[in-house]
Amino acid sequence: MGLIRNIFMTELLMGLKIVFMQMFKPTITLQYPHVKHPIPDGYRGLMSLLRYEDGTERCVGCSLCEAACPSNCIKVVSDEVPGQPLVRYAREYYLDITRCIFCGFCTEACPVDALAMTKVYEAAVYDRRDLMFDKAKLYELGERYLEDGKAYLTHHRMDDGTLHPVEGLGDNRYHFPAVDAEHGGVQPEQIGLTAEALEVEETTR
Ligand code: SF4
Ligand code: SF4
Repeated sequence: MGLIRNIFMTELLMGLKIVFMQMFKPTITLQYPHVKHPIPDGYRGLMSLLRYEDGTERCVGCSLCEAACPSNCIKVVSDEVPGQPLVRYAREYYLDITRCIFCGFCTEACPVDALAMTKVYEAAVYDRRDLMFDKAKLYELGERYLEDGKAYLTHHRMDDGTLHPVEGLGDNRYHFPAVDAEHGGVQPEQIGLTAEALEVEETTR
């Protein structure tokens, strides 16, 4: 049997048959980088920082992302907004993307949807220092890939409705109480008091 196979080169003919059959099937090879696969909305690509529609930075410098990051690749330097002692922001923000494992924990930890991942996966550079993203770079990525960020937060059900209103989505976020400077950041109804009663309480303290 083996001799007959050797004489008639059956393995070779079987191989040629497979090649011949594949010639008439549609090609599945993409001509990367000219043609790229569509990337799903939940994809965890390069990180970005987002702004509100009026251009205000969303990040309030709370450092929850830094605490949640298992790779210790985030560093937040928080500060008060000048003239507004109740309002904080990230004066500096650094993210070492060479150490990032793209887990997305930081985006989940962020209470104000300031962080979102983009669909960008091509991050090769000649100098690895370029992969230490600072605040300006992260906000620039956020502006350039805003649609990616919106899609990411919506897909992971983290959008509080301000980025991408979708019915049935975006109501599972913790919402900070509105800042009421007059009452030290506390809304009277939050502690079961009327505004007048709260004022009396504050003046007798
Ligand atoms: S995606 Fe994960 S590893 Fe990367 S910065 Fe966020 S928490 Fe850290
Ligand atoms: S990105 Fe979000 S979690 Fe991180 S410091 Fe800013 S507000 Fe806090």
